[in-house]
Amino acid sequence: MQLKRLEAYGFKSFADKIEIEFDHGVTAIVGPNGSGKSNITDAIRWVLGEQNVRNLRGTKSEDIIFTGSSSRKPLGIAEVTLTLLNDGDLSLPFDEITVTRRLFRSGESEFFINKGKCRLKDIYALFADTGLGHDGISVISQNKMDDILNSRPEERRLFFEETAGITKFRDRKNESVKKLDDTEKNLTRVNDIIGEIE
Ligand code: ATP
Repeated sequence: MQLKRLEAYGFKSFADKIEIEFDHGVTAIVGPNGSGKSNITDAIRWVLGEQNVRNLRGTKSEDIIFTGSSSRKPLGIAEVTLTLLNDGDLSLPFDEITVTRRLFRSGESEFFINKGKCRLKDIYALFADTGLGHDGISVISQNKMDDILNSRPEERRLFFEETAGITKFRDRKNESVKKLDDTEKNLTRVNDIIGEIE
């Protein structure tokens, strides 16, 4: 999987539509302080389904919509589209996959995969265990880096597990253990009822 293009309109400082092509060889984005470099990674994180606005350096969800400037009115919508080249990591039969997220100032959200309307959980499912999901660590902010470096060994282990793709199996194991537990309880109830009838 490879990032191909990012388009953003009305997202944070991007009052005009921006389009960034991630051609081969792009390793860094440079610019003056406050020019919007981190807003680019915030846009990627947001379109992939980030729901915690604090991870996007905001306090409420509408903080991600362009708030206006001395020369520009605030906008009523933020929209981000990420295009990825799919080499099989994403389980859809397309070489190129786009995901789009919109937020209206009214609070309404919309999500799209390849221009088809979908739910947030469809986006989570598409990127699950690819490392690029909303809880993945492919996009690491400066604050997150500090968190990782200062984290306790058990917390750091979770990062490694996520990177190694173990999380999916741990979640499935937990689900199975819960089902087994529920079944044990049901069996106990059935045995109680049988005991009462006899
Ligand atoms: P640095 O090099 O200092 O880390 P940066 O290039 O990463 O800076 P960002 O943090 O991406 O810059 O961008 C910060 C700018 O984005 C600030 O000028 C801030 O006012 C602007 N900004 C953030 N949210 C919004 C918003 N909702 N509407 C308008 N501008 C916004």
